[in-house]
Amino acid sequence: MGHDHGGHGHSHGLVDRSIMRSRAGLRAVGLSLLVLALTAGGQAVIYAITGSVALLADLIHNIGDAATAIPIGVAFLLRSERAERWAGLFVVVAIFISACAAGYAAIARIIDPSQPDHLLALAFGGLLGIAGNFLAAIIRTRAGHRLQSPALIADGNHARADAYVSIAVIASAVAVAIGLDLADPIIGLGITAVILKITWDSWITIRDGHGDHHDHAHPHDHAHPHDHAGPAGA
Ligand SMILES: [Zn+2]
Ligand SMILES: [Zn+2]
Repeated sequence: MGHDHGGHGHSHGLVDRSIMRSRAGLRAVGLSLLVLALTAGGQAVIYAITGSVALLADLIHNIGDAATAIPIGVAFLLRSERAERWAGLFVVVAIFISACAAGYAAIARIIDPSQPDHLLALAFGGLLGIAGNFLAAIIRTRAGHRLQSPALIADGNHARADAYVSIAVIASAVAVAIGLDLADPIIGLGITAVILKITWDSWITIRDGHGDHHDHAHPHDHAHPHDHAGPAGA
C-alpha cells in the first residue's frame, strides 16, 4: 500500500495517503486541520481590523494547508480513489486562485500604497500564526513518531517551517511602525511565493497519482529510492 520514504521527511504537498492506514493518523490530521482552521479564522478577524496584506497572505497559506487534508478525508469517507483525485484537483485549483488573490492584493497595495492599521493587533495576528502552526506541528510530529509515519513527520516539519513564515507578519508590523512604507505588501508577496510552492508540490502529487503506487521522479534536489514493499515500520 503506502510507500516508505525512508524517513527523509519531505512533504508532497497534499497529505499522504499512507496516513489513512490508522485511525490515530487520521485523528492527528483532523486535529491539526482544526487548529490551522481556527488559526486562520482568528487571523481573518485581525485582517478585517488591520487590512494587512502580509497577514492576508499568511491566513490564506494556513487555510490552504488545512485544505490539503481534504482529499484524504474524502478518500476515507467515500472510499474512492477517483473522488480523492478530484478533491485533490479542486484543492490545488482553490489554493492557486487564493495565492493569485493574495499576490494581486499585495501588488495593488504597492501601486496604491496604504498602511495597515492597529499594528499591535497585526503583530498578534503573526503570533497567532506562529502558535497555531507550532501546535499543528507538535500534533503531527508526535503522532508521526508514535505511528512511525514518515508522511506525518514530514507534515509536522512543514507546519514547523510555517511557524517561521508567520514571523514575517510580525516583521511587517515592526517595519511599518518604523516607517518602511512598502514592507507590508512586499512581505505579502514573499508569503504568496510560499503558497505557490505548496500549490506546485500538491499539483505534482496529483499529476503523478500519489496513491498506492507512485513512480514519480521526485522533483526535489535529493533523489531517493522508493520502497513499495509495504508500510513504513508497520
Ligand atoms: Zn515520495
Ligand atoms: Zn505551509
